[in-house]
Amino acid sequence: MRVTVAGSSCSVPRIDRACSAYLIEDGDFAFSLDFGTGAFANVRRYVDYDELDAVVISHMHADHFLDLIPLRYAIRYGSKRRKNRLPLWMPPGGIAMLRAMTNVFVGEGNGDFLDEAFEIKEFDPAKPLPIGEGRLRFAATTHFISSFAIRYERNGTSITYSADTAPDQRVVELARGTDLFLCEATLLANEQEQGGVRGHSSSKEAAKMAADAGVKRLVLTHYSQDATPADLADGARAIYKGDIEIADDHSVIVV
Ligand SMILES: [Zn+2]
Ligand SMILES: [Zn+2]
Repeated sequence: MRVTVAGSSCSVPRIDRACSAYLIEDGDFAFSLDFGTGAFANVRRYVDYDELDAVVISHMHADHFLDLIPLRYAIRYGSKRRKNRLPLWMPPGGIAMLRAMTNVFVGEGNGDFLDEAFEIKEFDPAKPLPIGEGRLRFAATTHFISSFAIRYERNGTSITYSADTAPDQRVVELARGTDLFLCEATLLANEQEQGGVRGHSSSKEAAKMAADAGVKRLVLTHYSQDATPADLADGARAIYKGDIEIADDHSVIVV
């Protein structure tokens, strides 16, 4: 299994970096967890739009799905041809939100803007979802809107992606014993969320979740231009004793 980080920024892209997307290649099967702002150009360096097998969206914040729009244009107008429409798994309620947003692009008689490129479905977070030769499981997170952490597993090897979340025991349970935990570290070391409403984690909080879940390896991601080493791994190392890596666009992690 191979994970390529195609976007490691939080909602505001770092310079020359994209927002959330994690390309997972497992044998012949390649899919992306999220497809955020600017990520398409990075994903296609590895797996282009004619060969991508699926996209799964964790939640409906722009930094996690916005590049579905250029992906749609590529599938519709690009010189490479897909054999099928691209399977696109949205969170519950995500299809209506995506349609509402893309309706502004849809002229008269062009009502299949999304459907001509994508085979769109919503996942049921309560049920495992078969994908390729593996399966996905989901856990709701603590975020400002409905959001789901996602675990991909095949033959006992697993990758768990936190999506966006404040510290949350449900995410810990989903990540339990996982081989690779991709966890957001949006908040700077001493940053407080506005009004005390929680929706993100610091690197120390990510490390605490990783330690509680007994994960084998931690990758911190979804961080801002302002994040310093002190905001990232330095603080986390005292809490989580396993390997910690800082994701960057084009990081490749073999699991
Ligand atoms: Zn985000
Ligand atoms: Zn978000």
